Amino acid sequence: GYGRSDGDKQTIRSYPGAFIQEIIDCISPTTHKVYCLIGSSQGAAAVFNALVEKPAISSFLAVQNPVSHDPQRFVCIKQPALLMYDTDDDGHPVSVGRLVKKYIPNNHYYEFASSKQPKWLEHNAHLKLLQLFNEYDANNNTTNALSLQLTASSKISLPSLPACVSVAGGIISYLSSYNREPLYRNSKEELESILSAYENQSVQNDDLFVEKIEPKRIEDDESKAQRLATELAQTQCDLCNQHISGNDMSKSLRLPDCRHLLCYSCCCETIKLNSYECPVVGCAMKLNVPSSQLSLYSLPFSSDNEKHIIIQFGNSCKSISSSSQRYEYTAYVECKTTNVIDSVSFDINPGYPKSAIRVSKAPYELVRIMNLEFTCHFIIQWNKALNWPKLRITYHVQNKQDSFTRNLLVRIPNQDNTMAKSHKTREEVVYNWTDRDRTKPNINYVVLSYD
Ligand SMILES: [Zn+2]
Ligand SMILES: [Zn+2]
Repeated sequence: GYGRSDGDKQTIRSYPGAFIQEIIDCISPTTHKVYCLIGSSQGAAAVFNALVEKPAISSFLAVQNPVSHDPQRFVCIKQPALLMYDTDDDGHPVSVGRLVKKYIPNNHYYEFASSKQPKWLEHNAHLKLLQLFNEYDANNNTTNALSLQLTASSKISLPSLPACVSVAGGIISYLSSYNREPLYRNSKEELESILSAYENQSVQNDDLFVEKIEPKRIEDDESKAQRLATELAQTQCDLCNQHISGNDMSKSLRLPDCRHLLCYSCCCETIKLNSYECPVVGCAMKLNVPSSQLSLYSLPFSSDNEKHIIIQFGNSCKSISSSSQRYEYTAYVECKTTNVIDSVSFDINPGYPKSAIRVSKAPYELVRIMNLEFTCHFIIQWNKALNWPKLRITYHVQNKQDSFTRNLLVRIPNQDNTMAKSHKTREEVVYNWTDRDRTKPNINYVVLSYD
């Protein structure tokens, strides 16, 4: 039928092909194809219609008591089909079923009378399905089918089915559907044991839980033209949502891969300083902006009344042994403008400030062998003569391939002598890198002053 999923129940009826394709893309991201589509009643109508529309999405189909309009359309369905009709069900007349049987050439066709055999489907459907697979699938021999049949409830066996194996998501989703699925309680225990069986299996089944990398889809000329037309019509910045006027459009930037559009002032505030990733929240596409492009933008603060220093921080990460999953992390801080750093303390245990490791000569870095990412605050002391407050960057070492880098603009207001020596040296300004709000673009600057 329509099932009990959330959302608009008419979708499966109005757009069966698109709807089923979307599900298939999720559970079978490499092949975009499933082994068998199974439908009941209205769901069966969706299976028929989807296969008429998109013949390649499934190798088999199976339906019970299907709704079917204009069955002559089904002549194009070449998949082996399991067709099961209840002769006592006037809502899904068997007369239509006999037509469907005629139009779909490769079929296993069954009629039963629910008045005499009320549990015919429960007792037979799964066996008929295996028989169908057995007859038409060259890779799926009898032993496989038998072992599947015998072990389905007790042990997980993975027959020679294609790569649509991301069952975990479906089970997890079902397990969290308390209110919608009345029978959920009956199967909860069994499903949880299936799930834990998968989780406890060794490496070869890890792919049940990882997202497959989808091959890059090649854009055809028509959709490219369409995309470019849409992009040309866009007058709103994807980051700040402000309207970009015609004059300013030439100064805005269309990022090459994610196609996000950034207005001039957003470019100044974000990629001018950190051109590593797209700043649009949730995107984070890796960027490679040429420096000639970056030179078109200026920092968003005038340097008339303040001094600007650019600090770069981050870490590199390399695997030191394939078996033990241990990594050599090098956390570092560097002054990209004229060096005014006196020393950097690497505080990997912020609860115990005394334990910070102080490095008083460039390169300011700390090497650690660790299994996991770890907290590492950077406490920067400036040249004594400057009498600036210390700067603490609350960093968390990242386990990224190769390296992770960020630039920070440190703004020091020109205040003549107000940064007097009377200030206690332990005062510090904190730049919260780890606590940053992930729903907003990262703030790339900090103001260094005693108030
Ligand atoms: Zn903007
Ligand atoms: Zn983007």
